[in-house]
Amino acid sequence: MKKVKIKSPGTVANLVCGFDILGLALNEPSDIMELSLLDEPKVIIHNRDNYNLPTEAEKNVAGVVLLSVMEKAGKHIGFEITIEKHIKPGSGIGSSAASAAGAAVAANHLLGNIFSIDEVVQFAMNGEKLASGVKHADNIAPCILGGVSLIRAIHPLDIISIPSPDLFVTVIHPQIEVRTSDARQILKQQVLLKDAIRQWGNIAGLVTGFMKNDFDLIGRSLEDVIIEPVRSILIPGFDEVKRKCKEAGALGGGISGSGPSVFMLSKDESTAKGVELVMKDVYNRIGIEYNTYVTTINKKGVEIL
Ligand code: ADP
Repeated sequence: MKKVKIKSPGTVANLVCGFDILGLALNEPSDIMELSLLDEPKVIIHNRDNYNLPTEAEKNVAGVVLLSVMEKAGKHIGFEITIEKHIKPGSGIGSSAASAAGAAVAANHLLGNIFSIDEVVQFAMNGEKLASGVKHADNIAPCILGGVSLIRAIHPLDIISIPSPDLFVTVIHPQIEVRTSDARQILKQQVLLKDAIRQWGNIAGLVTGFMKNDFDLIGRSLEDVIIEPVRSILIPGFDEVKRKCKEAGALGGGISGSGPSVFMLSKDESTAKGVELVMKDVYNRIGIEYNTYVTTINKKGVEIL
């Protein structure tokens, strides 16, 4: 039986100013999945974790992705998948993307890599559509490719990998629920021209900062005048966390994806660990449980084990 085991990383989408167009992959946490090829057109899903995700293919992002691969492959095949999730669903660090991207890469591998990277991204985006109602690739692209990704456009797909310094990433996941659909619904549909100008200045600054290893420029550009002011009200303690993390030496950061996780970038590990203490301190005082990670940018993306 043809079988493959993969590791699929968590991701931080948006990177503050780049709503829906920027994302990076994390070395921690990541999901593990095993996929085998079947000679019958069906998808069997097993969960090897306690998150009780649906096992019906149409309701699980990995299942939806595999169904779309089967349709496009046009062969008499099916898949059996075992999902071992370490990225908590709804955390804002790309849990659904890890399943979607991992399933797409693993399926392509079993089929002899007959599909291009762009096609694999397209398959995986079907999973994101199920999870959040919208096809977006700012988690999917870095999950598959590793590093920092710019999604310049999705029609047609235009993904650019951005070289970046080896930054440290501190993530806190306060254990509150922020539904991606709610976090999208509260956004304003119109922006002021002056805000748009500020925002695209920041995006260009952030990308340039990554490419030139210019830490100060990265820090200055991690500013969001459009999405964060609206969304941050869903995350208790957000303003205080951000201010204190910067005082502790973080370059900057903000909401990870649609939240509730918050991330901060730092130049070195000791600063990233200090930032973790500051984050914990705020949520201990507010009385909200949390998980934290101090990690680095994952440069490999989905890995065949
Ligand atoms: P995240 O940013 O952590 O991916 P989302 O809210 O975008 O969070 O996606 C999680 C949603 O997708 C949850 O409602 C979850 O039940 C659903 N879901 C379905 N299948 C999966 C899967 N294999 N992995 C993660 N989430 C899944």
